[in-house]
Amino acid sequence: MGDQKKSHIVIIGAGVGGLAAAGLWSKAGHKVTLLESHYAVGGCAGYFRRPEGAYDVGATTLSGMIGNRPLAKLSKDLGLNLENELVPCDPGITLWDQEFIHLRKGIDEIAQEFSQLGVDLDEIKEELKRWSEIEKGLWSFLEHTGSFPYLDPLKALKVGLENIDLLKNPAIFTKTFYEFLPQKFKENQKFVKFINGLLLVSTQQTSHTCPAFMGIMGIMYPRDTWLHPQGMMGFCQKLVEAIEKFGGEIRLREKCLKVDYKKDQIVVHTNKDVYQCDKVIFNIHPELVKEMVDHCSLNTIYAKKLKQKGELWGAMTAYLKIPNPVKLSYQYLQCHIDAQKNRLGIGTLFYSFSNDSKRVTVSSHINLNGDFDSIRENKDKYLCLKQEYAQLVRETLAMVCDELNLEDIWLESVGTPKTFRRYTGRARGEVGGLIHNSTLSLLRLIPNKVVKDKFYHVGDFSFPGQGIVSVIQSAYNTLE
Ligand SMILES: Cc1cc2nc3c(=O)[nH]c(=O)nc-3n(C[C@H](O)[C@H](O)[C@H](O)COP(=O)(O)OP(=O)(O)OC[C@H]3O[C@@H](n4cnc5c(N)ncnc54)[C@H](O)[C@@H]3O)c2cc1C
Repeated sequence: MGDQKKSHIVIIGAGVGGLAAAGLWSKAGHKVTLLESHYAVGGCAGYFRRPEGAYDVGATTLSGMIGNRPLAKLSKDLGLNLENELVPCDPGITLWDQEFIHLRKGIDEIAQEFSQLGVDLDEIKEELKRWSEIEKGLWSFLEHTGSFPYLDPLKALKVGLENIDLLKNPAIFTKTFYEFLPQKFKENQKFVKFINGLLLVSTQQTSHTCPAFMGIMGIMYPRDTWLHPQGMMGFCQKLVEAIEKFGGEIRLREKCLKVDYKKDQIVVHTNKDVYQCDKVIFNIHPELVKEMVDHCSLNTIYAKKLKQKGELWGAMTAYLKIPNPVKLSYQYLQCHIDAQKNRLGIGTLFYSFSNDSKRVTVSSHINLNGDFDSIRENKDKYLCLKQEYAQLVRETLAMVCDELNLEDIWLESVGTPKTFRRYTGRARGEVGGLIHNSTLSLLRLIPNKVVKDKFYHVGDFSFPGQGIVSVIQSAYNTLE
């Protein structure tokens, strides 16, 4: 980008996608103004402070630090020094479903754990090695192309030839992960159930709908999960420092209301100011873009993409404190519970313990297509829902974790989709990006270069998917 004309870029939304884009574009010498409507940055990966320390609002773990994966690359490019600060999460995930499965970094260790589910140790070890090679190829493909599927067949073939494990396994792009599994593993219902539980956290889908290549990345990702010692607050602050170091400006509590595009002029109106700029990067929900933009081809693109939206997901969260912290052998625990037995219909709870084990963020998905709106309107029902959730997460943790009794687990607060609406501006508190149930369905996502040279989109509704690692990749995809 060195010789190119320097532009003024307004970025709307300081989620991780907006923060990463602001860092990269300001490092490249452009004038960057990052607008954030909330009082803090981070969005779904934000934080809030309490006397006992900061709590993560939603996301708690980071991934993509191996080799030249997006987070490692961002750390090098912006001088974040994460390689010396992040703590590996090992086991990356501990799953509990009447018994524990610890997903550690080593293939042998993972194979050992899976063999407890009744699959043959040597066979699963071989399969994991194969997946690991494919996973390496997929990351390398992503590094060179920035997306799946890639629409330039010649370049895709060239990169594919350099990553022969991909070409040897074309089925990963055409089959679901379940179809891709060797027959012996498919027949083991216990194994499939665990795989499905694991894929829920990484892809929001089960093996029956998830494209095989995403399933492989989803199964292998716990080997590449990390925690910042100060949680998301520490991670977000590093990004803020980098943006400011490169001359970018972050304006908090400044909400973008309207974007006009007339005669080659982009004008951004906020609740506080008006900006004339050369480019706009949206890091907000596509519905919000559609409402604020006056540009017919952009409106058409967003309207078309939004038509194909599937189920709406929100997050229920609870923030717990452990006054007398205990040493646990894991930091990230995924518990499978009986969805029929709780009125909330929740089947999975994700517990993430802070570095000092004093604070716990618990989250789960809830379906917003149901009667959530009517519950939200009714104060008593709403309070009841929060209380039920608090009870569910405390009781489950006490049941699963021998080291903790119910009275050792205190409640700080409960967050509902309303909380996420406050943090992200997303209507109804919808989180989670678009569901991909085939490789081609990835084309539904908002492209990162929506109208090249003028409008860009980053974040988990845009290529190449969701999670912090993906939104960082989406920021890279805006560079020219
Ligand atoms: C409960 C939960 C747990 C998760 N756990 C993990 C995890 O452990 N690891 C992981 O990798 N991923 C996790 N994820 C996913 C990850 O958090 C998201 O994919 C990612 O943070 C989304 O980032 P984004 O860039 O799309 O921006 P968002 O987080 O959506 O942020 C958008 C920002 O735009 C701002 N904004 C909105 N409207 C306006 C406006 N008009 N003007 C100005 N600003 C505006 C919002 O305030 C917000 O700050 C989790 C998500 C949730 C909900």
